[in-house]
Amino acid sequence: MPLLRGHHLICLNFFNGEGYDEAFIKNLQNLLSRMEEEKITIFYGTDDVCINCPYLKENRCLYSENSDREIMEMDTKALALLALSHGDKVEWSELKEKIRKIFSEWFYLYCKECDWRNACEKNASFQKLKYLHRTKEQQ
Ligand code: SF4
Repeated sequence: MPLLRGHHLICLNFFNGEGYDEAFIKNLQNLLSRMEEEKITIFYGTDDVCINCPYLKENRCLYSENSDREIMEMDTKALALLALSHGDKVEWSELKEKIRKIFSEWFYLYCKECDWRNACEKNASFQKLKYLHRTKEQQ
């Protein structure tokens, strides 16, 4: 059963084949295909995405000076938005529906300044949700 932390529940939706290295990308592809078949277990901490990340050292994210603390904050916010907690089990399809509803807030809080934004921008779902988000703002 795939184990995912809060912010990966959202960001993985917009995976477009890009990543840190080949092992990291292959792991994401494998996880995404498993998520179509198996329920996801919510985990607060290092998960099945982090496990293949070159920045993971001694169970901490060393992507940047404050990244470990910052991603924990992102996880907390993601779980609050999705109304999920550590240990919950959820279907990928159910999650996609929830993400559609909370995308505006997530985009405003995190996507605007994210280093991976260019990769997500190439994903059709990301573009669609951005369009809906803009339309909502104009109403
Ligand atoms: S732009 Fe960054 S924060 Fe937004 S969904 Fe993509 S990876 Fe996540």
